Amino acid sequence: MARIIAVANQKGGVGKTTTAVNLAAALAAAKRRVLLVDLDPQGNATMASGIDKRSAKPNGCEVLLDEAPIERAIVATAAHYDLLPGNGDLTAAEIKLMDALARESRLKEQLAKVADRYDTILIDCPPSLHLLTLNALTAADGLLIPVQCEYFALEGLSSLLETVKAVRQRLNPKLAIEGLLRTMYDVRNNLGNEVSAQLTQHFGDQVLRSIIPRNVRLAEAPSHGQPIHLYDRSSRGAIAYIGLAGELIRRERGAPAEPVLAETDA
Ligand code: ADP
Ligand code: MG
Repeated sequence: MARIIAVANQKGGVGKTTTAVNLAAALAAAKRRVLLVDLDPQGNATMASGIDKRSAKPNGCEVLLDEAPIERAIVATAAHYDLLPGNGDLTAAEIKLMDALARESRLKEQLAKVADRYDTILIDCPPSLHLLTLNALTAADGLLIPVQCEYFALEGLSSLLETVKAVRQRLNPKLAIEGLLRTMYDVRNNLGNEVSAQLTQHFGDQVLRSIIPRNVRLAEAPSHGQPIHLYDRSSRGAIAYIGLAGELIRRERGAPAEPVLAETDA
């Protein structure tokens, strides 16, 4: 049975999609069977995986509305993970779901049909805490929270954690915090260090050891429709995501995490 991890933070631009795509590729490179679910109407994870979101049909929309079997919507990608594509249709799905029965557990029900085919299912969430994200949190075993090492990094974290509490009480008691992931870290920037120290002070062991550096190759890769692993496998960004995959695998096995140090572009 797959372990399901939602990548969420209602702040936009913190590295959710970059993390979901490149972690999917890094886990697949480690011979894990991975499904990436693009639950953001922007369809960025779909495009970054080399799949044209405009022609992706059926996609997550039809699957959530029970209008197409999930098996028919899933496609294979060049980086050896599978993708449930998403695009603007998801906005319509979210609106139609408002009046539906068991509206928060649609994704959970659908993923259950394919869970035995994968080791890990990653869900890239939209920048909100609305119904699509609630579906992800209801389906998930763990929540991975990317946090950008910049001003206002902690802003919004408390409402995210409030939502987690509410989801645990009403929808999904098994939801765990997989970890907070520091992204776009720049060693030359004192602020990054301050934010990092603040995070550790507040969240202790829940802050992952792996740190994703600010790396221009990570920002370039999506426009080539490639995860970093295919675009530039020796880049600092690629190495950092391989380190993150290793840390998550070790955590799953209950082994102590090794510290992973990352540097930024010189
Ligand atoms: P989100 O999904 O949270 O909105 P994205 O993953 O799309 O965030 O990242 C926002 C922007 O920052 C994108 O243009 C992306 O390419 C860029 N980006 C993300 N992570 C990094 C990084 N570690 N280094 C450099 N650029 C990054
Ligand atoms: Mg995104």
